[in-house]
Amino acid sequence: MEQIPMVDLKGQYLRIKDEIDSAIQDVLNSTEFVKGGAVTRFQHNFETYLGVKHVIPVGNGTDALQIALMSLGLQPGDEVITPTFTFIATAEVVALLGLTPVVVDVDPRTFCLSVEAVERAITPKTKAIVPVHLFGQNANMEAILALARNHHLFVVEDACQSTGSEYRFADGSVKKSGCMGHIGCTSFFPSKNLGCYGDGGALFTDDDEIAQTAKCIANHGMTVRYHHDRVGVNSRLDSMQAAILDVKLRYLDEYIANRQRAAARYDLKLADIPQIVLPAKNNQSTHSFHQYTIQVPTENRDSLQHFLKGNGINSMIYYPIPLHLQKAYQDSRYQSGDFPVAEHLSNVVLSLPMHSELSDETVDFISQKILDFFDGTQV
Ligand SMILES: *Cc1c(COP(=O)(O)O)cnc(C)c1O
Repeated sequence: MEQIPMVDLKGQYLRIKDEIDSAIQDVLNSTEFVKGGAVTRFQHNFETYLGVKHVIPVGNGTDALQIALMSLGLQPGDEVITPTFTFIATAEVVALLGLTPVVVDVDPRTFCLSVEAVERAITPKTKAIVPVHLFGQNANMEAILALARNHHLFVVEDACQSTGSEYRFADGSVKKSGCMGHIGCTSFFPSKNLGCYGDGGALFTDDDEIAQTAKCIANHGMTVRYHHDRVGVNSRLDSMQAAILDVKLRYLDEYIANRQRAAARYDLKLADIPQIVLPAKNNQSTHSFHQYTIQVPTENRDSLQHFLKGNGINSMIYYPIPLHLQKAYQDSRYQSGDFPVAEHLSNVVLSLPMHSELSDETVDFISQKILDFFDGTQV
């Protein structure tokens, strides 16, 4: 049976193979494997695309988040607010740095952090908010930035899933995801909206001083060679990945448009199934559909996933356990039941195949199987 994958990296590569192969060959010829022209070129092209002053390429998205928090001069014990419904990296770096993660619940419609919950979680120790633009849609940044201004907090956007999404503010201005707070972080993991062929990530900022600090931290805390002004890390985007990303950046808007087209078709085909909830739209944000995530009643979710698998259709549960219930993050401050929305979502979410190469026929086939499943269970 033909398998329908979550992502189709092979199909995507084959469409741009000549350009990619020649970009890789150029790096091989140059032997500038680390740093060098390819990285600088991509960095500048990405700055132009995003409309942001500084892009700082690093080794991966998790490093980007860690370096971002290290750049803000936070002290052990300072509190950092993150949603409990996200990929672990968001809270992991907070914990690693000896900062205190304060988790909050999310909005049941958009899966992004609830502004009311953030407001309730602010204490005199709070120093930063890390909104996650989950599944490709920006969190309610208008309200989050206002809250941060009022309480003098830093905002570090986790834009690992939302590269290329846009957000429209009430005054009509439009910004790219990750370019609204003090720092934005993204990942170039192969399956992300803008993915390379290995690991990669970047920080975005308009602030010259933060940019300087972040660059220094990513390079062993060094500004002048072998003079180390602070404790840093070693985190670099390699030239091969940068060359690949520079080619793929030219296609990013097309990739996002293809994802949006596939999502609109899922919306249409699945609209009449009363048991499921389709992804909701935040009017101020475009949605780049890193994931197309439906909500299925708990009692049907795993059997639907099994049924789809039996028809060659892969699907994923992002994420099955909220942060506050993860073993490594157990904390006497939090119990099961404290974050009902996130806990509910972890029992009902199901992400369907979604990528830049998804055809109408495949969306129709997947949708029909979901319809068949519910026809069969409706007795
Ligand atoms: C992918 C991802 C990360 C981490 O990126 P890596 O490049 O894998 O380190 C962090 N946060 C979110 C929300 C992600 O989806």
